[in-house]
Amino acid sequence: MKLLIQTPEGTIVNLIKEYELGKTIQCIKTNYLGTEVNPLKYELFRYKLPKGVVVIFKDNRVLRTRNEWFEYRALAALAREYGAFKHGVLLKKNGYQTEVDGVSLEENLLVEIKRDFINQGWIDFYSSKLKKLGYKILFLVAPAFKKDLIVPSDIKLIKFRPDWRSIHSYYQHYKFPTWIREKIAPRHFRFLLPNGRWKGAKRKFSKTAKHTPESKFYQAIKWLKFWTPVKIYYTMSRMVNPPREYFGRGYPLPHLLAVFDIDADSHTHIIGPQGFCQRCITEASEKRKFAEEILTNEGYQFKTIFSGKKGFHIYIFEEDEAKEVNPGEFFQIMEKIKAFTDSISFRDKNNQFDIHRIIKVPNTIDASTGMIVNTGIKKLNLNDQLIFL
Ligand SMILES: [Zn+2]
Repeated sequence: MKLLIQTPEGTIVNLIKEYELGKTIQCIKTNYLGTEVNPLKYELFRYKLPKGVVVIFKDNRVLRTRNEWFEYRALAALAREYGAFKHGVLLKKNGYQTEVDGVSLEENLLVEIKRDFINQGWIDFYSSKLKKLGYKILFLVAPAFKKDLIVPSDIKLIKFRPDWRSIHSYYQHYKFPTWIREKIAPRHFRFLLPNGRWKGAKRKFSKTAKHTPESKFYQAIKWLKFWTPVKIYYTMSRMVNPPREYFGRGYPLPHLLAVFDIDADSHTHIIGPQGFCQRCITEASEKRKFAEEILTNEGYQFKTIFSGKKGFHIYIFEEDEAKEVNPGEFFQIMEKIKAFTDSISFRDKNNQFDIHRIIKVPNTIDASTGMIVNTGIKKLNLNDQLIFL
């Protein structure tokens, strides 16, 4: 979370961690003369100074979802031993309200998952959180822990080692589906890394005398060095200069893949050993059925694939390949199935098609679930490890 101190002397911005929140607020109140006032939207704390203000901002959605893959994978691994978990649950007790990363279905087990180096500050923070919520036991899952921590008996430390090797070697033998292969070269590819950052492909994945689109694609993954991508996206629009699109300067052309996104409505996800939320699939399957029925009746050819986590992508086809359309045609099709697709958000602020829009690449892996983005609900066999300390 972000701390902002604005005084006539200047502005200070600092990043603080959740466990430092209490201490930071205390510190502000002791060192600055002022009054605490109600925080505004997106704020956790607001303190009015005679000349200036101190604000602590909540993490935004992008930051919150940055480590989602780690939470999903860790809960799935835990679910193999303890049964399914609800993900991201708001708990309330005696006026205290807080979000917990995982709660077992019987509500007797709390899980906090932090993709961070756990020090004593974190332990003390979670220990006090556990007491305030009145639960008996908390699993604290993280990639690494400081040595010689003082840990209360109701907190169990679990080191989580996600299996990246299987995902990496999957890409070594990766093939673009034949129905999309011809459409790959003019599109910009972008990789979401495990640390939440993005990397853009520096080359076009076109066929040359020396290389296939696949060998260039794998090369691009190798260039990420010790990272393996969590998710891989490509632009729906063709680009004049695909690699430059990473800087927003790819010059999109009005030839876009007619692909529509279908998701479940928002709810608390339940993660079982299979790694994804079954309710998402059930709800999205219902919408998918309706959308497919309409498209069939209208005479469209299409292919529906699993989007890797919580829904489906419907590609409009022409002669057994993914079809490209202009924005007008895209909206015409969307109008017919708009009650069932989330692609309504594909409009930009001028109500035009957002030509910079990206979507997950078919046949790639969504590493938050280990599922393959393609027909059927297929999972890669992952050897994720939980080490109880
Ligand atoms: Zn769900």
